[in-house]
This record gives sequence, C-alpha cells and structure tokens, in this order.
Amino acid sequence: MPIRQLSETMINQIAAGEVIERPASVVKELVENALDAGASKVEIVTAGGGLSLIRVTDDGSGIPERELALAIARHCTSKLSDDIHDIRSLGFRGEALPSIGSVARLSIRSRTASGDGAAEIGIEGGRVLPVKPAAANRGTTVEVRDLFFATPARLKFMKGERAESSATGDMVKRIAIAFPAVRFTLAGSDRSTLELPATGGTPEGRLARVAQVMGKDFPDNAIAIDAQRDGVHLAGHVSIPSYTRANALQQYAYVNGRPVRDKLIAGAIRGAFADVLPRDRHAVTVLFLSLDPATVDVNVHPAKADVRFRDPGLVRGLIVGAIREALAGAGIRAATSGAAGLMAAFRPGGAPFAHPGPASGHRSYEAAYRASGLSGFDRGSDLARSPQRPLDMGEARPARNGFAENEQAAFDTSPLASADARAGTAEPAEALLGTALGAARAQVHENYIVAQTRDSLVIVDQHAAHERLVYEALKNALHSRAVPSQMLLLPEIVDLPEEDAERLAMHSETLARFGLGLERFGPGAVAVRETPSMLGETNVQQLVRDLADEIADNDTVETLKERLDRIAATMACHGSVRSGRLLKAEEMNALLRQMEATPGSGTCNHGRPTYIELKLADIERLFGRR
Ligand code: ADP
Ligand code: MG
Repeated sequence: MPIRQLSETMINQIAAGEVIERPASVVKELVENALDAGASKVEIVTAGGGLSLIRVTDDGSGIPERELALAIARHCTSKLSDDIHDIRSLGFRGEALPSIGSVARLSIRSRTASGDGAAEIGIEGGRVLPVKPAAANRGTTVEVRDLFFATPARLKFMKGERAESSATGDMVKRIAIAFPAVRFTLAGSDRSTLELPATGGTPEGRLARVAQVMGKDFPDNAIAIDAQRDGVHLAGHVSIPSYTRANALQQYAYVNGRPVRDKLIAGAIRGAFADVLPRDRHAVTVLFLSLDPATVDVNVHPAKADVRFRDPGLVRGLIVGAIREALAGAGIRAATSGAAGLMAAFRPGGAPFAHPGPASGHRSYEAAYRASGLSGFDRGSDLARSPQRPLDMGEARPARNGFAENEQAAFDTSPLASADARAGTAEPAEALLGTALGAARAQVHENYIVAQTRDSLVIVDQHAAHERLVYEALKNALHSRAVPSQMLLLPEIVDLPEEDAERLAMHSETLARFGLGLERFGPGAVAVRETPSMLGETNVQQLVRDLADEIADNDTVETLKERLDRIAATMACHGSVRSGRLLKAEEMNALLRQMEATPGSGTCNHGRPTYIELKLADIERLFGRR
C-alpha cells in the first residue's frame, strides 16, 4: 500500500483511542470543559451506564455561534496562548470534542452572555451537521449519544452498566474535590444520584467538600497538612494511622487543581506512612500540590492524568516530610479517637459492651469449649472469677448498665490485682502530674501501665510503646551515621541497561552511606562489594534493580531506606519488652517520659495506639457525677 494521508475522522478516532477510554473519560472531558468555562453549576445525566447517553449542562461562559464549528475541529482550543509551559486550564489539547464526535453522536447547544440567541451544532461518527439556532439558557449543554457506535471494537471492552456508572461517579467525585465552589449533580438511570452542593472555596469549604465525597467521618479522623518548600506548596488532609483502607483508591491527589494519578505522589504517601501502617493497609489522603506551572509537565499523556515534575526529589521530600511531621504531632489524636469509641461503649444504659466483629467468634469458641466438657467453664465455677478466664466471658451474660459485672469482680478478688499495683498508693509527685502522660500508678494485667495526670487517666500498652521507642532509636541510629555494611566475599556483578548503571553510579555516595557499596563495572553493569549488614543474606540483584527503577522514576533511593526501616521495625518488635514483664515504678515512669520525648510514639509500628487517655471529666460523666 502506498503512503497516504489519513482522513480527519480516522485521525480523530485514533486520538479517541487514547483520550476516550470509557464513558467516565467522556464525563471527565466534558466536566473539565465546563469548569474551564467558569461554571458554578455542573449537571450530569447518564443513561445505560453512559453508553446510550451522557449529558453535561453548565452555566459557564458559553461558546459564540461563530466558534461552534471550531470547537469540534481538531487542534482548536481557546485555552493555550503561545506557551506550552504555562498551562492554567484543565484542557489545552483541543482534541476532546472532535475525538468524542468521531466515535459517538455529539451535539453542543450553547449561549454566551452577549445577548445573541443560542445555537447548536452536531457531529456523528465524524460527520459534521450544520449549525442551527436553538433555545437555551446561558451556558452549554453537551450531549453524547451512542458512545462507540462508530468503533464497535471498543464497545466490546465496556464492563457492565453498573461498573461504568460507578467509574463515572468516582471520576466526578475526584474532580469535585478540587472545585468546592461548584455545585455538581450526577443522575444515572439506576436512580443513584450524586448531589454535591457548593461548599465554597475557603479552607472550611474545601474540607466540607471532602467530607461530602469521602464521608463525614473522614475529617474527624484526619490531620491537616500545610507545608511549603522552594516554591512548592502542599495542602490537604491525611488520615490518622488508625483510619485506613485495604486499597489506595481513597488517595486523591491534585497538581495545580488538576486530578492526577501519579506514581511519585503515591510512593511518597506510602513512604510517609511506612512507619505507622501495616504493609497491606493504605492511608486515606487528599493532597493539593501547587507549584509554578513551568516546573511541571502535564502534557505527558492525552488523558492528562500523568504529570512530570522538574524536581521530583523536592516534591517527594516535601510530601514525606510534611506527612511525617503531621503524624508525629498527631500521636495524641490517634490515641484519643480510640478512647472516644471506648467511652461510647461504656456509656451507662447504652448497649452492652460490644466488640466489633470477632466477638461473636469468641463466643462460639467459648460455647464449643463448654460443650466439649473439657473446661471448668460451667457457670458458677471459680474460674469465671479468675483473672485467667477468657476476656469475653462477661459477654455471655447480658451486662447490666453497660458494665460486665464479673469484669469488676475480678478486680476485687484477684490476688494479682493488688500484686500488680507495684507503684504503691502514695500520692504521686506534683511535677509528674503535670506531664503529658502523667505519673505511673500501677501495672495491671502484666502489660498495662495505669498513670494519672491532673485531669485524666492514662493507660499505656507497655509492649506497643516500648516497641515503638526501640524502633525510633534504631532508625535514629540508622540515619544519623553511616549504616554498617558487610563485605561480600566475591563482588556481585549486576547487569543492567547502561542508563540504569549510570544512574546508580551517580547515586553511589548516598548508597554507600546506607551500607550499599557499588561501582561501575564496565558498560551496562555494576559491581556490588558491600551490602548493609542489617539486610543479612539479601537478593542483591533484585535490590539493585529495584533501586535503579526507583532512581529512574523518582530520582531518589528511598527504597533502600524504607527497606532498612522495615528491618529496624522487625528488630524492634523482637527486641522490646514483652507484655508480661513486671516493671518497677521508676521503670514505668522512665518509659512514660521517653514516650513524651519521642515523636511518633503515640502509635505503635502497626498503627495501633500505644496509649489511651480518659479524661477525668468523662469518667465522672460515666458515674453520673456531672
Ligand atoms: P480543550 O478543552 O483542550 O480546549 P476541547 O475539545 O475539550 O479542547 O474543547 C474545544 C474548545 O471548545 C475549548 O477550548 C472551548 O473553547 C470550547 N468549549 C468546549 N466545551 C465548552 C463549554 N462547556 N463551555 C464553553 N466552551 C467550551
Ligand atoms: Mg477540553
């Protein structure tokens, strides 16, 4: 076949292959256009999951009649001046409308503020229909029918109606978070309607919009982030470590108001939370980055969800630093929100003390155990009063006034209860009462330190707390001086693409500080002579390749640092005071003082609180004294 120029429609269909993946991408493009036009209300209606109909109506600037034909022509945009490096709108490529028009039936009805009437234009599978007068309010209505009718192959890839609808819903929410001053409504044929009234552009308004999208409990479980470095500003909210998800879908990121899905940002969030979350849990985050448009490239992919930062290390460092700092300052909150739930569970006359989830499992376990006849578990047995009885015993009986009464009995009669109270009963020193975690008064159940401040009762999980302290100390040691390394008997040669080898060599000094000694070994290879002793026997090839990937992506060697941190965490877990060890009063107080002095000690390495604080006022309320 000779070379020939493709037809306009064919070119547009090829572009559509990248820009218009599914109904949600049409909605994204149309909503972005509405927002670029300064709309304060955006109304979206879909049918058949968006495949039979998508209609987006806005009250924005509108398109003059004489420009309608241009709006649907390729490479025509009102948003880009002469500088591709200065993009301040969501759109700039001038290809969404012609792409949609090449694979669907598209009509645009619009009216500007100038007083002329409204006009309409259509394009169906690339065939342009003439402009004609229409009736409409100020603003624009874009209607897309029969999506992909002109490209049946793509149609086959669509998931069910419900899946497409939900992808569209997610898309609208994602965009809406960045535009709290705009009212959004989304109605589909499945009667699920999303309504997001405008909340305003103030910080409170922004948070209110976030709550509309992510749920009312998010703000209560989130910490504000606000940080700045070298002209890059980061704002938003991240969840406290006890509020997590099983996947990272609830991590929203925006660069200059544009929703993005960015590996660097996701990696930075993971790194920031690595210390406080188990590996299979994910934080919930909403982060807004603002920076000079010239220092970020949004023209990476036609769908505009990818970005490239000119200084990825700066952006990553800012995100990790800001989140870690906020988490460190919020240790107390992480613990307190747990205490609030506890107080609710305790409320007299309320529901009997109920554990979520596993409690029923315990109960059936107990029932099975009793039925087996193995136990001294029968009612009336002394075991029921013994401190060794399973914790859930009290639940088998309806508890009166919300308290499990035999829980109390155990406190009175157990010989251990008094033996555990090692700190004695003398009034504690006034100075200790003024500290954040107070004066230790007793150790109970061989693991819980009960302390007293001027206005609260503090209960510390000694194992969790100590584990965290050991971990922080290890990490400090790790990052304050060079990490000890061990020589390999034979240097290990890792073959890599030449660029990767070059990149690793450029970072060799930093790597050496973390105990990884490597150097160039001819073209396309590095020789590893030393590895961090902490890693023990390690897969050097894999480690080096992972590092090369990361340097290529992010220009950092965080992978190695994170790996070492994880090992420090494991070591801490094994090296710390086990529950069950009896502590002297001085030891308990020393632990409390150390916790106060250590950032991040409010949560253990797995994100659970290391202590809870019950305010005296709340305790008095429980007893009806207030
Ligand atoms: P881009 O958004 O990249 O400019 P589009 O193909 O999405 O490209 O839109 C082409 C042009 O049509 C826009 O530049 C804008 O001038 C005009 N336009 C599209 N949608 C709207 C709208 N809802 N309100 C006002 N103008 C619009
Ligand atoms: Mg556009």
